[in-house]
Amino acid sequence: MTKKKLPDSLHLDTLAVRVAVEKSQFGENSEALYLTSSFVQPNAESAARRFAGEEEGYTYSRFTNPTVTSMEQRLAALEGTEACIGTSSGMAAITLMCMGLLKAGDHVICSQSVFGSTIRLIAGEFGKFGVQSTFVSQTDVAQWREAIQPNTRLLFAETPSNPLTEVCDIKALADVAHAAGALLAVDNCFCSPALQRPVKLGADLIIHSGTKYLDGQGRVIAGALCTTRKLIDEKFMPVMRSAGLTLSAFNAWVVLKGMETLSIRMKAQSDNALALATWLEAQPRVKRVYYPGLASHPQHALAMQQQSGLGGAVVSFDVEAAEPVQARKFVFHVIDSTSVCSITANLGDTKTTITHPASTSHGRITEAQRQAAGIGQGLIRVAVGLENIEDIKLDLTHGLSTLDSMA
Ligand SMILES: *Cc1c(COP(=O)(O)O)cnc(C)c1O
Repeated sequence: MTKKKLPDSLHLDTLAVRVAVEKSQFGENSEALYLTSSFVQPNAESAARRFAGEEEGYTYSRFTNPTVTSMEQRLAALEGTEACIGTSSGMAAITLMCMGLLKAGDHVICSQSVFGSTIRLIAGEFGKFGVQSTFVSQTDVAQWREAIQPNTRLLFAETPSNPLTEVCDIKALADVAHAAGALLAVDNCFCSPALQRPVKLGADLIIHSGTKYLDGQGRVIAGALCTTRKLIDEKFMPVMRSAGLTLSAFNAWVVLKGMETLSIRMKAQSDNALALATWLEAQPRVKRVYYPGLASHPQHALAMQQQSGLGGAVVSFDVEAAEPVQARKFVFHVIDSTSVCSITANLGDTKTTITHPASTSHGRITEAQRQAAGIGQGLIRVAVGLENIEDIKLDLTHGLSTLDSMA
């Protein structure tokens, strides 16, 4: 099957449905799913060359698999990076990045607002192997600059952050990293390349949890690391082969097909989220709404410029309460009064999800740490899906309008 070569300058929406490996001899229109652990070699000579990396060709699915390659090529095209490597989860992508780039005695600067498991992985697990880390404010560039040490190799940010949607200035952080001879990695889960392409702003590495918006329908766990061909070949592929952080072909296929609708989903879910956030700001029992698309957001202008004018689909808000015990009671009442929203800490689904961060995603840190992070007992996070937003407003009204009876 000869493949028609794609033109060079295609738009993101076209790349999202068209980039993939060559079709098989059957000429299937949808991408094939290659469920095979190994690949038959044409002859012993060829097998030797392929295992030595001297000849192109698939050998074993822990290393590469055509379905995984399709997913990698498509995501790299969307992020605007030379290459991408698929991993078994978002956390596996961060593990791969740290294993490939860091050794004992190296130093990482990380936003204190990144995903909780990321903090535990870098400070705890890599700390055990002698990697040093400093955690700084997501939004204060001066803190990042002051944390630089001679052994700093990597800066790591996630924007917007979870659950407070703090936005960091990717270009400013890239400048801080590069002035120190370090690399900047950005976890792009919340925006996805449909809204934000950190490489265009100077980031060196992009982390993805494919579990979130790339799949977009809550079906699989998957991850990816996007960067230069050189870093993938020299730093990450050797770790991948040995450590086996491999993405399964089936999960790669689900994510590959998910990406075809990524940009229309991100647009529709962002529009829904803005409508919900605007409505929430007008609700009497709502104290504060956190959403980058609102003019009241502290980094609204930066977010609009960095995120293609859209706020993303995650909205958080504080419920008005006298003290933390009452706040928790109120929030549980609002959550339990919903019947459309799913009570789950996951996000990036077409189904709207609702969660109480203080007792779920951020339940394992101390109350003092939560206070410092601004994640109070009164905070609710909604990851807005594709339902009609009027139904979601009504779903939240049931609880919000009956709080007086609880006081
Ligand atoms: C979920 C998530 C991760 C981890 O991804 P998994 O696929 O669950 O391993 C990392 N970063 C962010 C921002 C996430 O939301």
